[in-house]
Amino acid sequence: MLHSSDHVVVVGAGFAGWRFVEALRREGFGGAVTLIGDETFAPYDRPPLSKQILVGKWDAERATLATPERIKDARVTLLLGTRAVGLDLGAMTVRLASGATIEGTHLVIATGTRARQLSYSANTLLHTLRSRSDEEGLRDALDRIAPGSVVALIGGGFIGAEVATALHTRGFRPIVLEALRRPLVTALGEDVSTWLERLASDVGIELRSNQLIDDVVQNDPTFTVTFHDGSDLEASAVIVGAGALPNVEWLADSGLTLDNGVVVDLHLLARERVAAIGDVAKFTWSSVLGAESVRIEHWEVANVHAARLAHLWVTGESLEGLMVPYFWSDQYGKKLQMLGHPRPDDAVVRVSGSPEEGKWLALYSREGVVSGLVALSQPRALMMSKHFLDAPTTLRDAVALAPWAN
Ligand SMILES: Cc1cc2nc3c(=O)[nH]c(=O)nc-3n(C[C@H](O)[C@H](O)[C@H](O)COP(=O)(O)OP(=O)(O)OC[C@H]3O[C@@H](n4cnc5c(N)ncnc54)[C@H](O)[C@@H]3O)c2cc1C
Repeated sequence: MLHSSDHVVVVGAGFAGWRFVEALRREGFGGAVTLIGDETFAPYDRPPLSKQILVGKWDAERATLATPERIKDARVTLLLGTRAVGLDLGAMTVRLASGATIEGTHLVIATGTRARQLSYSANTLLHTLRSRSDEEGLRDALDRIAPGSVVALIGGGFIGAEVATALHTRGFRPIVLEALRRPLVTALGEDVSTWLERLASDVGIELRSNQLIDDVVQNDPTFTVTFHDGSDLEASAVIVGAGALPNVEWLADSGLTLDNGVVVDLHLLARERVAAIGDVAKFTWSSVLGAESVRIEHWEVANVHAARLAHLWVTGESLEGLMVPYFWSDQYGKKLQMLGHPRPDDAVVRVSGSPEEGKWLALYSREGVVSGLVALSQPRALMMSKHFLDAPTTLRDAVALAPWAN
């Protein structure tokens, strides 16, 4: 449990880090808190980067979470533009790029993920969208190209689909290049990805599947994407949405267990007084189907992690109840939402709506037990069915109860 003489050091001033600092104060912690972040921006929200901000509805500043008043209220020492490069668990110190060290009684790792880079000739000129600096770079590039220009999106996943939607709204001609037979098939499984397949073309966005890209070369002022089959595509800008990698390199010599993230237990602890939260945490997740070790890149998971860890450290008690992961994505004019963390090979049954209607709700199940819910533009039906993930529910019982029909 935390005492007022303790000093909590949080590395990573993103969403999870900031939410944790606020949660500590809300829970009543009165001691010292230091938040270290390598970006120069005060903590902000990332989802609007590919939505309201990219489309031009919001100024980027509006995504700021840590406003000057909130920073003052949180009584936090905020070290921005400051990169952590090492962790000494014996001394409980974080080593900074400047060579300075910061000692804490409790450490929280919240360093999130970064966009995966691909190895093309023109790599340094291609865009990704993870941070406000990325957004600034992309905005500058888009300002220099004419409306109607082709923008190639490498990767048809969540970010690719959202960026394509925003660019289409702005009058560009996005072309989504997906390596697999269908976008999101590895994330959502065969059936669900099939139902989503036509969303892009329904709004007039070109989506090409099975695209094996050999290289992207600069062809000033445009770019040429060359494909394995010998064909090519000329684009005025190229954006890569190829997934994310956890920021754990700075922990290589720390002695912590790293395995596609920082491995932590059910309470988000790597060891006593050292925790990891948010996108970087590979945590033991207890669900209606048992416990498994997962790393989940969802805004709401980071939010719940922050609240749970703060409560545990301030009160000494764990928050009751299973955590039900939640994710949403605004793509091709629709809202896709998911509850739970189903596996792509879980069985799927659609219980309401249809792809033709442009809205539906489906249940995932494993061994006859509901493992997840996914909905397209059916937010109410989804939320009315959430309790199926709070306690084990057979698929048969869920279908018989049919709360989505009310
Ligand atoms: C464009 C975009 C759209 C998204 N849309 C959605 C959505 O619609 N729905 C949804 O559920 N989720 C969405 N997400 C995911 C969501 O934003 C993340 O789950 C959330 O930001 C995770 O928070 P985090 O604090 O763990 O990581 P981050 O927000 O990535 O924060 C980590 C911070 O740590 C910093 N850092 C890294 N290494 C160091 C170091 N060594 N020293 C100091 N600082 C360091 C990073 O620079 C960063 O500022 C989206 C993400 C992006 C990028």
